[in-house]
Amino acid sequence: MALDPPTILILTIALAASAALYMAVEWRTVREPSLLCWSAGFATIAVGSTLSLLRMNGLLLVGIWFANGLLVLAHWLFLLGVARFTQARLSRSWFLVPAAWFALLLLPGDQPWSKLMLVVNSLLVALPTLWASYLLRPHGRSLSVGAVQLRYVLLTHGIFYVAKALSVVIPGTLIDLAAFGGEIIRISLVEGVMAIMLIALSMTGSERYRREQRIARLAARDPLTGLYNRRALDLRAPRLLAKATPEQPGALLLIDIDNFKLVNDLYGHTAGDRLLVALGEMIRAVLPQGALVARLGGDEFVILLSDASSERIMALGSTLRERFQREATQSFVTPEPVTLSIGANLFDQPPASLAALIEQGDTLLYESKRGGRNSIRLVARSHAR
Ligand code: GH3
Ligand code: MG
Repeated sequence: MALDPPTILILTIALAASAALYMAVEWRTVREPSLLCWSAGFATIAVGSTLSLLRMNGLLLVGIWFANGLLVLAHWLFLLGVARFTQARLSRSWFLVPAAWFALLLLPGDQPWSKLMLVVNSLLVALPTLWASYLLRPHGRSLSVGAVQLRYVLLTHGIFYVAKALSVVIPGTLIDLAAFGGEIIRISLVEGVMAIMLIALSMTGSERYRREQRIARLAARDPLTGLYNRRALDLRAPRLLAKATPEQPGALLLIDIDNFKLVNDLYGHTAGDRLLVALGEMIRAVLPQGALVARLGGDEFVILLSDASSERIMALGSTLRERFQREATQSFVTPEPVTLSIGANLFDQPPASLAALIEQGDTLLYESKRGGRNSIRLVARSHAR
């Protein structure tokens, strides 16, 4: 089968329609507005390419002007989708793009308009595409793999259209839009097919990657305080524990609120929740670099430190206890003081497991509770592997 323009256009229609359908189905499950914009963009390309075929029957207004206008609209929809994806605001001047397209209707109907139309059309496609690629640049936080791929695919596609616009100044260039005549048009049709595949793949890739990251984040976090949960701690702790040496010991602090039930009973569960959130923030604020913190459940929190010392643990524990007691007494009047009890372990070699370490911390915490609460019980010991 020869790759003549009508065949390539039929291929384009099939690919664009499949991409539109696929993204619409994805949108039904994830409800990301960017997917809907991109789906609409591909649907527009499918319609535009179908209309393109009509130029061979002499329907030039629909087959050239209208069909190419839809190509511009499709890239504008891609830009809209990228703006949604990156949560960037689009300037209102982007709405002038369709106006520029309508101006082309005023062109005279003889041969030179083919070149002018190609220049204007290519630039109106290149502009939103390059801007979309620019919106996907890294902003402080690194971009996902999918988004980086989309950025470069759009950049290449945009540059291709700039080159296409510039190609008309090459002497002797043949461009006959009415008959798909000239090398530039043929190359562009093939580029279109490849671009659809690559853009569609990287768009779905970006959304998927982001969704996976969101799910992984949700699975690792305690929804109330935003701290790691036990599962996330289990995954991250081994690296920190393995680093413990006599020169740079590690430490575990197990923290439990004293008489927390009183807050729930006297002020309600929501007030209790607020106190848990406040404690989470206090811990975050004093956490040294490289440390891990998690809410184990209920009113129990755990901190894992690397490169610790008895002095640092005592200082950290005292700061937390003081800040927490101040906050709790300012907010709640209770028959028993709402304070913090802490059980802490200093270990100079990797412990057998995190679970064993927490169990030892629990014993110390219990001792601290039995000893009258609002205190820290610290043990420094060498662990047998
Ligand atoms: P102790 O001094 O011995 O630690 O007693 P306590 O009153 O602090 O109670 P304990 O630690 O034994 O139990 C924790 C309580 O925290 C039990 C439960 O009602 C409450 N709790 C557990 N999860 C949540 C939560 O997400 N929000 C709120 N508001 N309360 C919770
Ligand atoms: Mg408690």
